[in-house]
Amino acid sequence: MSLDRVVVVGCGAAGLAVCRELRARGYDGNIIVVEQSSVPPVPKPALVSVVAGRLEPSQASQRYHQLRTLGVQVLWGYRAVELAHHEDCVVARCAQGGQVCIEWDALVLAVGARPVLPAVFEAGRQVLHLHTRAEAVMLRELVRRHGSLVIVGGGPIACKLGCELAPRGCRVTVISASPWLMARMLDGEAGYLAARVLTNRGVDVRLGTELSAVQPRGNTGAILKLKTGDTLAADCVVVAKGQRPDVRWLQDSGVRLGREGILTDLEMKTSRDRVWACGDCAEVAATGGATGVRFGSWSAAVNQARVVAGSILGLGTSYCPHAGGNVVTLGATQFVAFGRSEQRTGIRVLARRGPDRYARLTLRRSRLVAAVMVGEALPVGLVRHLILRGTLLSEDELCALAAGDLDYIVIGRHERGDCDV
Ligand SMILES: Cc1cc2nc3c(=O)[nH]c(=O)nc-3n(C[C@H](O)[C@H](O)[C@H](O)COP(=O)(O)OP(=O)(O)OC[C@H]3O[C@@H](n4cnc5c(N)ncnc54)[C@H](O)[C@@H]3O)c2cc1C
Repeated sequence: MSLDRVVVVGCGAAGLAVCRELRARGYDGNIIVVEQSSVPPVPKPALVSVVAGRLEPSQASQRYHQLRTLGVQVLWGYRAVELAHHEDCVVARCAQGGQVCIEWDALVLAVGARPVLPAVFEAGRQVLHLHTRAEAVMLRELVRRHGSLVIVGGGPIACKLGCELAPRGCRVTVISASPWLMARMLDGEAGYLAARVLTNRGVDVRLGTELSAVQPRGNTGAILKLKTGDTLAADCVVVAKGQRPDVRWLQDSGVRLGREGILTDLEMKTSRDRVWACGDCAEVAATGGATGVRFGSWSAAVNQARVVAGSILGLGTSYCPHAGGNVVTLGATQFVAFGRSEQRTGIRVLARRGPDRYARLTLRRSRLVAAVMVGEALPVGLVRHLILRGTLLSEDELCALAAGDLDYIVIGRHERGDCDV
């Protein structure tokens, strides 16, 4: 099979990493990227820094210069709208109405995910997401005017945004239906500490709170009615509450879709020959089932992209979901979660040292399988390494690690090195 042309749809974290990895592994054929944004996008994790005024959008997009060095052709401003079922060709359209049909020998779908708008909001009105350069610039203006902001959602993005903007003079309220912040990542105690960090920085945190109605107020503002009966007025509302891939255009393409995204195996191959998917749009079904897991993080996107590049070139690599973990820094405090602690049985060790340090580590069959930690300068690398390598640990070692007494651990003969999904 010839491999003259690889086409990548989407130029975010995953798309860019696929291009880089293909070249790093010696692929010297044509790479064409189709990207709907007409200018290089700001990488999503950098958007909060743009809003906070620490970074200019043009600086944040600089990493796209490498595409020229890599000899990659990018069709900026072209949105992929159709993948022909019986031909190896993807159709893309630009805003002015022009259309191109691009043939491929290998196709990578790296189209990310779009924000979800709760039903209580009218589409396109009274609300911003933080997904694009334009939204970041609009929010930055609001910060300059010291306006009032309501953030709907209690995940890492809502927390980071609140934490950055309140000390800059914005009146920030975070509303979350969950009983604690970052509820998918943290346990209740760690979530409580996150709320305390935000409150100390001047954010009004309202947990277990749901919206009942939203009315427009001025050009960008809104009046939010809460189910508690309270009312909040804001110059701007940001919804940071979940996202989903927009993959409807693939429905008749022969690429199998899962519950939310594009189904792949651990090699990131889709159901269609020579078509791969990676990043936020990929739903990885390790056992080949009808549903899988979307990972939704920068490092998952980049690691999956590496696997895609290896798989295209026939190097037989596969993705190891176990490597997943989350580290969120709010102010000087780190919030760390590895593994899915709520689903793991085993020995749990709790450690609290001072009001701002907390750890819950879970040991199963003498191996660390999950960790939730809060504090400053946490041994993140060590914990990740112990989980990934399956190092045998005693309960004493676990207690010392949870208490923050161990900075290093000598490992050798007790390692396993495989991947326990
Ligand atoms: C504000 C914010 C902060 C974040 N911070 C972190 C963080 O600190 N750490 C972390 O791990 N993760 C973070 N994330 C998540 C992380 O950014 C994503 O998981 C990651 O960007 C996923 O990469 P991706 O390439 O799959 O998708 P994206 O980066 O979203 O890229 C997808 C690209 O595809 C393009 N596209 C979509 N559809 C089409 C189409 N039909 N045709 C052509 N182009 C198309 C889009 O325009 C986009 O450029 C954050 C997300 C947000 C929103």
